[in-house]
Amino acid sequence: MKIVLFGPPGAGKGTQGARLSEKYDIPQVSTGDMLRKAVADGTPLGKQVGEILREGKLVSDDLIISIIRERIAQPDCAKGFILDGFPRTLEQAGALEGALEGSLDVVIYLNVPREEVIERLSGRLTCRDCGAVFKKSKLTACPACGGELYQREDDKRETVENRIRVYEESTAPLVAFYRERGKLADIVGVGGEDEIARRIEEGISQYAVS
Ligand code: AMP
Repeated sequence: MKIVLFGPPGAGKGTQGARLSEKYDIPQVSTGDMLRKAVADGTPLGKQVGEILREGKLVSDDLIISIIRERIAQPDCAKGFILDGFPRTLEQAGALEGALEGSLDVVIYLNVPREEVIERLSGRLTCRDCGAVFKKSKLTACPACGGELYQREDDKRETVENRIRVYEESTAPLVAFYRERGKLADIVGVGGEDEIARRIEEGISQYAVS
C-alpha cells in the first residue's frame, strides 16, 4: 500500500498518518519529522535547512527528492509506506511518479479551510519525542509517551501565515495534478479524529487495490 497524505499544514496528516501506519503496518515517512530531527541533531543537513524550516519556506526540490528516494528504498518500505508532507511541489510529484512507476495507490487529501488551519497551528503543542500533537493546554508532558511538549518554531503565528501562503502557491496545484490522474480521495478534514479516520478508510477502499 503506497499512500500520500496531502493537505495544508495543520490538516492532521501527522495524526492520521500514525493511525494508518499502525493499521497497515507500514512506515509513516514524514519529511518534516526527518528534517526537524536533522536540525535537532545538528547534522550537516540540519545546518543546511534550519533557517528554511524556521521561516516556513520549502527546502529545495533536489534535496528533498534525494532524501525521499533514499528513504523509500529502505527495506522497511518494501511493503509500502505513507508519505506525510511529500510531495509539496509539482516537481516533487513528477519525481515521485518516476520513482514509483505508477504504483502509488491513493492520495488522501485532507481538506481543511484556511481559518481552521490557522487556529489549529497556532494553538497546538508537539511532543519532542514522539511527534504527537495536542491542543494548547496546561499539559507540559505528552500523555502518550511522557515527552516534553513544545510549540514548534514554525507554529508561531507570524510563520503560520507564511506556511499557508507557500502551501497555496506551491502545493495546492497538486490537487488538480492527482485528480487528473484519478488518484485523489478528497476527504473533509474537519470533525472528530475517529470520524476523519473513517472517511479516510472509505477513500482508501475506493481507490486502493490491496
Ligand atoms: P511539516 O512538518 O510537514 O509541516 O514540514 C515542516 C517543514 O519542513 C516545512 O515547512 C518545510 O520547510 C520542510 N519540508 C517538509 N517537507 C518538505 C517538502 N516535501 N519539500 C520542501 N520542504 C519540506
